[in-house]
Amino acid sequence: MREQIVAGNWKMNNDLAETEELLGEMKMQMVKEPEATVMVAPAFTNLYPTFQALKDTPVIVAAQNMHESENGAFTGEISAKMLQSIGVTTVILGHSERRAYFHETNEQLAKKVDAAISAGMRVIFCFGEELEDRKNDKHFSLVESQLKEALFHLSEDAWKNIILAYEPVWAIGTGETASPEQAQEMHKHIRTLLKDNVSASVAENTSILYGGSVKPANAREIFAKEDVDGGLIGGASLKAVDFLEIVNSF
Ligand code: PGA
Repeated sequence: MREQIVAGNWKMNNDLAETEELLGEMKMQMVKEPEATVMVAPAFTNLYPTFQALKDTPVIVAAQNMHESENGAFTGEISAKMLQSIGVTTVILGHSERRAYFHETNEQLAKKVDAAISAGMRVIFCFGEELEDRKNDKHFSLVESQLKEALFHLSEDAWKNIILAYEPVWAIGTGETASPEQAQEMHKHIRTLLKDNVSASVAENTSILYGGSVKPANAREIFAKEDVDGGLIGGASLKAVDFLEIVNSF
């Protein structure tokens, strides 16, 4: 049985006080231990207080990005070592907003993934097509090249620390969700790619999350699909009650 994961990507939302409020609500409302692995990814300034606040819970704290170098003259950047020094050992890489607004390429992402893996971190690797790609029937090949260029060089062992997050760009923050069938179709394609390019056991064991307008109202249906192992949640993760409902949607 693959690990089921629900990760909240808080993006550039919430200052410290708002983060503490959200954490307080989450802790109060988390009445039972979730069956899925739960993660939250606050902004850098809120990482340490979030880590401290969630220490006595099963919730894992992840960063939203990191630089591929260990240290040096990279103004404004954060390294794996810095994250680990405050207890953060999971990082989201390749989010479509990083790709679109900060021009991260598959080539650069391959380096970031290598840096994270060699530092012993877990990576939530995001990828997915734009609407134009889907309209032109290029979504399968686009996803294939994103995975090939950023991940398929990894050793089988490294894959134990990779979580995939398929996020069609047209579904992120738009209220438009891929149908459960569209998600399943792509996730199955991804598993076939893993089997053909990495190994059968990596294909079988790697968790593949779906992201893009997941809400309490649609999570159960999406998570029920055979090859969907959970979700990466943006907007709906900013409200404790909604996020926890999604966490319990398996
Ligand atoms: P959304 O964002 O749930 O607000 O669509 C998902 C994401 O960007 O990870």
